[in-house]
Amino acid sequence: MTDLSGRTAIVTGASRGIGLGITEALARAGCRVAAVATSESSAEKGAAAARDAGGEALAFAADVRDGARADEVAKAVMGEWGRIDVLVNNAGITRDGLLMKMSDEDIDSVIDINLKAALFWSRAVARPMIKGRAGSIINVSSIVGLMGSPGQSNYAAAKAGLFGITRSLAAEFGARGVRVNAIAPGYIKTDMTADLPDEVKQKSLAGIPMGRFGEAADIANGVLFLASDASSYVTGTTLVIDGGMSL
Ligand code: NAD
Repeated sequence: MTDLSGRTAIVTGASRGIGLGITEALARAGCRVAAVATSESSAEKGAAAARDAGGEALAFAADVRDGARADEVAKAVMGEWGRIDVLVNNAGITRDGLLMKMSDEDIDSVIDINLKAALFWSRAVARPMIKGRAGSIINVSSIVGLMGSPGQSNYAAAKAGLFGITRSLAAEFGARGVRVNAIAPGYIKTDMTADLPDEVKQKSLAGIPMGRFGEAADIANGVLFLASDASSYVTGTTLVIDGGMSL
């Protein structure tokens, strides 16, 4: 079992779905987790799940689009725990639609939350990580960023952009001991996919060689690997966790 005792992590979008699964898995591995979500109550939900899983936790309400708030959270975590070992840029949204019907707001919000926020939060943890000469930043992208997807051009742009951030920061921070990697999930059962029409779900399932949708725990296992010393020579890469959907 992965042992992350003594380490600390910040997880954005920790209140539900994949972020909640990651928060619980990190806590179970002994990591202290700062759970970030849009409201006090949702952040507290993530933190409570981490405590239930046996870990120490802090809760922070933050809109990930707010760069100044990212700095505040990083400062508060440093004040409380004195180190930041892991950042998981997980918060994300979809605003699907054909491009001709997509509003400016559909484009801006998806780019801001899925892409720009990863720069803000990575910048916020960079100094403490570099000072500690260790750290792992994990960007939760999507296979849509690799493959493209009709009706998701805004989301695909944001998720593909995360690969650029991942590779650039891996090169920028590599000599300082800070690793930066991405995870590209396929179809994972969460609130994000719950409302898709049945016909879309069936079509997606038919395209997954492993014959099942993914669970949040499948992504959390990838995060544990990238957060731990088991991946100490891995940086700038993308771990695809999709049951073969992108093949
Ligand atoms: P979800 O909708 O269940 O959860 C998203 C989380 O992000 C929530 O906690 C939400 O509160 C948070 N969030 C949204 N906007 C925010 C903001 N402005 N500030 C702070 N937090 C915000 O979705 P999920 O399925 O758990 O997705 C998690 C990540 O995984 C996302 O980045 C998503 O794009 C990615 N992903 C999901 C799937 C899938 O099939 N579910 C596939 C590939 C990638």
